[in-house]
Amino acid sequence: MDVASNLADIQEKIRQACERAGRNPEEVNIIAVTKYVTIERAKEAIDAGIRHLGENRAEGLNEKFEQLSQTATWHFIGTLQSRKVKEIIDQVAVIHSLDRLSLAKEIQKRTSKKMPCFIQVNISEENTKHGLLKKDVLPFIEQLGNYPNIEVIGLMTMAPFVEDEAILRKTFRSLRELRDQIRSKSYAHAPCNYLSMGMSNDYQIAVEEGATHVRIGSKLVGESNR
Ligand SMILES: *Cc1c(COP(=O)(O)O)cnc(C)c1O
Repeated sequence: MDVASNLADIQEKIRQACERAGRNPEEVNIIAVTKYVTIERAKEAIDAGIRHLGENRAEGLNEKFEQLSQTATWHFIGTLQSRKVKEIIDQVAVIHSLDRLSLAKEIQKRTSKKMPCFIQVNISEENTKHGLLKKDVLPFIEQLGNYPNIEVIGLMTMAPFVEDEAILRKTFRSLRELRDQIRSKSYAHAPCNYLSMGMSNDYQIAVEEGATHVRIGSKLVGESNR
Protein backbone atom coordinates (compact mmCIF):
# COMPACT_ATOMS: atom_id res chain seq x y z
CA MET A 1 0.00 0.00 0.00
CA ASP A 2 1.14 3.53 -0.60
CA VAL A 3 1.84 5.65 2.44
CA ALA A 4 -0.95 8.12 1.68
CA SER A 5 -3.61 5.36 1.84
CA ASN A 6 -2.11 3.92 5.01
CA LEU A 7 -2.10 7.39 6.54
CA ALA A 8 -5.72 8.04 5.61
CA ASP A 9 -6.70 4.73 7.22
CA ILE A 10 -4.75 5.46 10.41
CA GLN A 11 -6.12 9.00 10.67
CA GLU A 12 -9.65 7.67 10.36
CA LYS A 13 -9.03 5.07 13.09
CA ILE A 14 -7.51 7.74 15.33
CA ARG A 15 -10.53 9.94 14.71
CA GLN A 16 -12.84 7.10 15.76
CA ALA A 17 -10.75 6.30 18.84
CA CYS A 18 -10.88 9.99 19.82
CA GLU A 19 -14.62 10.01 19.35
CA ARG A 20 -15.00 6.99 21.65
CA ALA A 21 -12.83 8.71 24.26
CA GLY A 22 -14.24 12.23 23.87
CA ARG A 23 -10.91 13.62 22.68
CA ASN A 24 -9.88 16.05 19.96
CA PRO A 25 -7.95 14.24 17.17
CA GLU A 26 -5.73 17.29 16.80
CA GLU A 27 -4.13 16.37 20.13
CA VAL A 28 -2.65 13.24 18.56
CA ASN A 29 0.65 13.53 16.68
CA ILE A 30 1.53 10.74 14.28
CA ILE A 31 5.23 9.89 14.18
CA ALA A 32 6.15 7.78 11.16
CA VAL A 33 8.83 5.33 12.28
CA THR A 34 11.12 4.96 9.28
CA LYS A 35 13.72 2.64 10.81
CA TYR A 36 12.80 -0.28 8.53
CA VAL A 37 12.54 1.59 5.26
CA THR A 38 14.52 3.44 2.61
CA ILE A 39 14.98 7.18 2.24
CA GLU A 40 12.63 7.06 -0.76
CA ARG A 41 9.88 5.52 1.33
CA ALA A 42 10.45 8.09 4.09
CA LYS A 43 10.17 10.80 1.46
CA GLU A 44 6.86 9.30 0.37
CA ALA A 45 5.65 9.76 3.95
CA ILE A 46 6.62 13.43 3.88
CA ASP A 47 4.89 13.87 0.52
CA ALA A 48 1.77 12.32 2.06
CA GLY A 49 1.78 15.07 4.69
CA ILE A 50 3.69 13.47 7.56
CA ARG A 51 5.83 15.96 9.48
CA HIS A 52 7.14 13.85 12.34
CA LEU A 53 9.61 11.06 11.61
CA GLY A 54 11.14 8.65 14.13
CA GLU A 55 14.37 6.65 14.07
CA ASN A 56 15.86 4.38 16.72
CA ARG A 57 19.49 4.33 15.64
CA ALA A 58 22.02 7.13 15.20
CA GLU A 59 23.18 5.77 11.82
CA GLY A 60 19.66 5.61 10.36
CA LEU A 61 18.89 9.07 11.64
CA ASN A 62 22.08 10.65 10.29
CA GLU A 63 21.55 9.11 6.88
CA LYS A 64 17.94 10.20 6.49
CA PHE A 65 18.50 13.59 8.10
CA GLU A 66 21.03 14.46 5.45
CA GLN A 67 18.47 13.93 2.69
CA LEU A 68 15.26 15.03 4.37
CA SER A 69 16.24 17.52 7.04
CA GLN A 70 14.38 20.57 5.84
CA THR A 71 11.01 18.92 5.62
CA ALA A 72 10.76 16.85 8.77
CA THR A 73 10.89 17.00 12.54
CA TRP A 74 12.97 14.13 13.89
CA HIS A 75 12.21 12.06 16.97
CA PHE A 76 14.75 9.72 18.54
CA ILE A 77 12.68 6.79 19.80
CA GLY A 78 15.18 4.06 20.62
CA THR A 79 17.57 3.11 23.35
CA LEU A 80 20.20 5.83 23.33
CA GLN A 81 23.80 5.10 24.27
CA SER A 82 25.50 8.07 25.90
CA ARG A 83 28.37 7.99 23.41
CA LYS A 84 25.88 8.43 20.55
CA VAL A 85 24.31 11.61 21.93
CA LYS A 86 26.72 13.94 20.17
CA GLU A 87 25.90 12.28 16.83
CA ILE A 88 22.18 12.98 17.01
CA ILE A 89 21.68 15.94 19.30
CA ASP A 90 21.72 18.65 16.63
CA GLN A 91 19.35 16.71 14.37
CA VAL A 92 16.56 15.68 16.70
CA ALA A 93 13.73 17.81 18.04
CA VAL A 94 12.63 15.33 20.70
CA ILE A 95 14.21 12.38 22.54
CA HIS A 96 11.71 9.71 23.65
CA SER A 97 14.03 7.46 25.62
CA LEU A 98 15.58 9.32 28.54
CA ASP A 99 15.92 6.70 31.28
CA ARG A 100 19.06 7.40 33.33
CA LEU A 101 21.07 10.24 34.82
CA SER A 102 24.23 9.41 32.88
CA LEU A 103 22.28 10.03 29.68
CA ALA A 104 20.81 13.28 31.06
CA LYS A 105 24.32 14.42 31.92
CA GLU A 106 25.54 13.75 28.40
CA ILE A 107 22.56 15.56 26.83
CA GLN A 108 23.18 18.50 29.16
CA LYS A 109 26.81 18.62 28.05
CA ARG A 110 26.19 18.33 24.31
CA THR A 111 23.52 20.95 23.77
CA SER A 112 23.12 24.57 24.66
CA LYS A 113 19.39 24.74 24.03
CA LYS A 114 16.54 23.11 25.91
CA MET A 115 16.04 19.55 24.68
CA PRO A 116 12.46 18.26 24.95
CA CYS A 117 12.55 14.71 26.34
CA PHE A 118 10.12 11.95 27.21
CA ILE A 119 11.04 9.73 30.15
CA GLN A 120 10.85 6.08 29.11
CA VAL A 121 8.96 3.99 31.62
CA ASN A 122 8.91 0.20 31.85
CA ILE A 123 5.30 -0.04 32.95
CA SER A 124 4.96 -3.77 32.30
CA GLU A 125 8.18 -4.47 34.27
CA GLU A 126 9.43 -6.98 31.72
CA ASN A 127 13.15 -7.31 32.27
CA THR A 128 13.78 -7.28 28.53
CA LYS A 129 12.51 -3.71 28.34
CA HIS A 130 14.36 -0.47 28.84
CA GLY A 131 13.00 2.34 30.94
CA LEU A 132 12.52 3.22 34.56
CA LEU A 133 10.26 1.33 36.88
CA LYS A 134 7.18 3.29 37.76
CA LYS A 135 8.25 3.87 41.36
CA ASP A 136 11.56 5.41 40.24
CA VAL A 137 10.11 7.97 37.82
CA LEU A 138 9.19 10.76 40.21
CA PRO A 139 12.55 10.79 42.07
CA PHE A 140 14.32 10.69 38.68
CA ILE A 141 12.37 13.69 37.42
CA GLU A 142 13.14 15.59 40.60
CA GLN A 143 16.86 15.01 40.00
CA LEU A 144 16.53 16.27 36.44
CA GLY A 145 15.91 19.73 37.89
CA ASN A 146 19.72 19.94 38.06
CA TYR A 147 20.04 19.70 34.27
CA PRO A 148 18.75 22.99 32.85
CA ASN A 149 18.98 21.88 29.21
CA ILE A 150 16.51 19.07 29.74
CA GLU A 151 12.79 19.67 29.59
CA VAL A 152 10.58 16.73 30.51
CA ILE A 153 7.64 17.08 28.14
CA GLY A 154 6.07 13.71 28.89
CA LEU A 155 6.31 9.96 29.46
CA MET A 156 6.89 7.18 26.95
CA THR A 157 6.30 3.46 27.11
CA MET A 158 6.25 0.36 24.96
CA ALA A 159 3.42 -2.04 25.75
CA PRO A 160 4.10 -5.77 26.01
CA PHE A 161 3.80 -7.79 22.80
CA VAL A 162 0.44 -9.35 23.58
CA GLU A 163 -2.95 -9.44 21.90
CA ASP A 164 -4.86 -9.10 25.15
CA GLU A 165 -6.58 -5.75 24.95
CA ALA A 166 -7.10 -5.56 28.71
CA ILE A 167 -3.36 -5.82 29.36
CA LEU A 168 -2.56 -3.17 26.76
CA ARG A 169 -5.18 -0.83 28.12
CA LYS A 170 -3.97 -1.28 31.67
CA THR A 171 -0.41 -0.46 30.60
CA PHE A 172 -1.42 2.75 28.81
CA ARG A 173 -3.76 3.81 31.59
CA SER A 174 -1.05 3.31 34.16
CA LEU A 175 1.31 5.58 32.19
CA ARG A 176 -1.40 8.21 31.95
CA GLU A 177 -2.06 8.13 35.69
CA LEU A 178 1.65 8.54 36.36
CA ARG A 179 1.73 11.46 33.89
CA ASP A 180 -1.18 13.10 35.69
CA GLN A 181 0.54 12.69 39.04
CA ILE A 182 3.75 14.31 37.77
CA ARG A 183 1.93 17.07 35.93
CA SER A 184 0.08 18.00 39.10
CA LYS A 185 3.43 18.88 40.72
CA SER A 186 3.87 21.76 38.22
CA TYR A 187 7.64 21.40 38.03
CA ALA A 188 9.10 24.20 35.89
CA HIS A 189 11.52 21.75 34.20
CA ALA A 190 8.90 19.02 33.79
CA PRO A 191 5.53 20.20 32.47
CA CYS A 192 4.94 16.56 31.48
CA ASN A 193 1.89 17.16 29.30
CA TYR A 194 2.42 14.42 26.73
CA LEU A 195 2.17 10.65 26.39
CA SER A 196 4.22 8.84 23.75
CA MET A 197 2.54 5.46 23.49
CA GLY A 198 0.96 3.25 20.84
CA MET A 199 2.54 1.46 17.87
CA SER A 200 1.14 -0.28 14.79
CA ASN A 201 -0.74 -2.96 16.70
CA ASP A 202 -2.03 -1.01 19.66
CA TYR A 203 -2.28 2.69 18.73
CA GLN A 204 -6.09 2.76 18.82
CA ILE A 205 -6.17 1.62 22.43
CA ALA A 206 -3.34 4.01 23.26
CA VAL A 207 -5.30 6.92 21.77
CA GLU A 208 -8.39 5.93 23.76
CA GLU A 209 -6.20 6.05 26.87
CA GLY A 210 -4.75 9.49 26.12
CA ALA A 211 -1.75 9.11 23.77
CA THR A 212 -0.57 12.42 22.31
CA HIS A 213 2.25 10.89 20.24
CA VAL A 214 1.79 7.55 18.47
CA ARG A 215 4.88 5.93 16.90
CA ILE A 216 3.82 3.94 13.86
CA GLY A 217 6.17 2.01 11.60
CA SER A 218 4.95 -1.12 9.88
CA LYS A 219 1.29 -0.13 9.36
CA LEU A 220 2.24 3.29 7.99
CA VAL A 221 5.44 3.08 5.97
CA GLY A 222 5.94 -0.70 5.98
CA GLU A 223 8.34 -3.03 7.69
CA SER A 224 11.06 -3.52 5.13
CA ASN A 225 12.59 -1.86 2.13
CA ARG A 226 10.52 -2.26 -0.96
C1 LIG B 1 10.01 0.24 15.86
C2 LIG B 1 9.41 1.06 16.91
C3 LIG B 1 8.10 1.55 16.78
C4 LIG B 1 7.19 1.23 15.61
O1 LIG B 1 6.87 -0.12 15.56
P1 LIG B 1 5.68 -0.68 14.64
O2 LIG B 1 5.15 -1.83 15.41
O3 LIG B 1 6.33 -1.09 13.36
O4 LIG B 1 4.69 0.39 14.46
C5 LIG B 1 7.62 2.36 17.80
N1 LIG B 1 8.38 2.68 18.88
C6 LIG B 1 9.63 2.22 19.04
C7 LIG B 1 10.40 2.61 20.26
C8 LIG B 1 10.20 1.39 18.07
O5 LIG B 1 11.45 0.95 18.24
